Amino acid sequence: MPEVPVTVPFLDLRVPAEEQAELLAVVTRVLNHGRLVMGPEVSAFEERVARACNRVHAVGVGSGTDALWLGLRALGIGPGDEVITTPLSWVASSNAIVLTGAEPVFADIGDDLNLDPASIPALITSRTRAILFVDFTGHMADAAALEAVAANHGLLLVEDGSQAFGARVDGRPCGSVGDLSGISHNPMKVLGALGEAGSVLTNDGEVRERLTTLRYAGTPDRQTCIEPSLNGRLDTLQAAVLLARLDRVSDAVTARRAHAIRYDAGLREPVATPMRSPRFDDVFYTYTVQCPRRDELRSHLAESGIETKIQHPQLIPQQPAFTDFRRRCPRAEHLVTRILSLPMSERLSTDQVDTVIDAVNTFYR
Ligand SMILES: *Cc1c(COP(=O)(O)O)cnc(C)c1O
Repeated sequence: MPEVPVTVPFLDLRVPAEEQAELLAVVTRVLNHGRLVMGPEVSAFEERVARACNRVHAVGVGSGTDALWLGLRALGIGPGDEVITTPLSWVASSNAIVLTGAEPVFADIGDDLNLDPASIPALITSRTRAILFVDFTGHMADAAALEAVAANHGLLLVEDGSQAFGARVDGRPCGSVGDLSGISHNPMKVLGALGEAGSVLTNDGEVRERLTTLRYAGTPDRQTCIEPSLNGRLDTLQAAVLLARLDRVSDAVTARRAHAIRYDAGLREPVATPMRSPRFDDVFYTYTVQCPRRDELRSHLAESGIETKIQHPQLIPQQPAFTDFRRRCPRAEHLVTRILSLPMSERLSTDQVDTVIDAVNTFYR
C-alpha cells in the first residue's frame, strides 16, 4: 500500500519561528556568560518551578527518570522495600523503583486510567514503604484518596507528575502532592525542554540536601563521595529554555483544553471521551479515548493520514524486565485494549481536530 501523507500528526516538536527567536536569544545569553554547568538559570528555574508547584524546594535533574529514581533514594527507599504503583504508565515510573533495589507491587487502575486507591490496601505488607502514583494523561490522580490510604498505613506518597505539569485537583497543582514529586521535562511533555530534563519537588530540607548530593556523584561538597550515584544535573541551557517556556505554558494548556472541549462535543458513541469532573483541571498531555475495535479504528485513521498512539500498549507488569513482579490487574488488562490517544498539542488547528472527529465518527457509522 502506498504511504499515506500525514495530515494530522500525533505530535509536532518543531519550534515556531516566533519562539525560535526568543529561545535563540536565551541561548546566546548563556553562551555569553559561559556558566554552562550549574549556571544561574538552574537555581532560577528551581525557584520558579517550586513556586508553580506549591513546594518549598525544587531540584533540577537530568530527566524525569532521574527525578523519580533519585527522589525515591532520597526518601530512603531501597532493597527489601515494596512500593505500590500503577501498571499503566511509561515504564520509567517502575524502572525508578527497581533501580533503588525495591520491588514494585502493581495495584489496579480506575476508569480515569489512574491508580485506584481502593485497590491498594489489600496489597500492603510489612515491607510496603511507599505508594508511587502517576497523573496519567495529564489528569491528576485522586490526591485526597491516595493521601488517606498513605496516612492510614504510614506509607510515603510519591507523585510522578511527568504528564500533568499545570494540572490541578481540588485546586492543588501537579507536583504538590505527597512527600515528593518527580516531573519530566523531556521535549514531549507539557513543560518540555529542548532535550532531557526533570525536576524533583519536596517540602523537606533534608530530602533536598540528599537530592543535591545524589544528583552529582553522591558528593555533598563535590569532592567527597558518600554514596555512589550518577551525574544527573540539569544543564544550564535546558534550564534557560524551561524558564522561557514557563511563561508560555498556560497559553499552551488553554489551547489544549479548547481542543479537548471540541473533541468532547464532537465524538459520538461508542467512543468514551476522557472522564471530566469539576474537581479536576486537566492539561491533556494526551487526549485518550476508550473505544471498541480500537485497532481497526487506528488503522482506519492511519489510512486517512491521522497519527494516533496507544500509551502504553504493554502494561508494565507484562514487560519482559518485570516478569519477577508480574501480577494480575483485571481493570488495567481490560482498559489497555480500549485506549487510544488522538492527536493533541497546542500546535493543532481547529480544522485538524474536526478532521479527526469526522474520521472517528465515520468509522463507527
Ligand atoms: C515521560 C515520563 C517519565 C520519564 O521521563 P524522562 O524525562 O523521559 O526520563 C516518567 N513517567 C511518566 C509517567 C512519563 O510520562
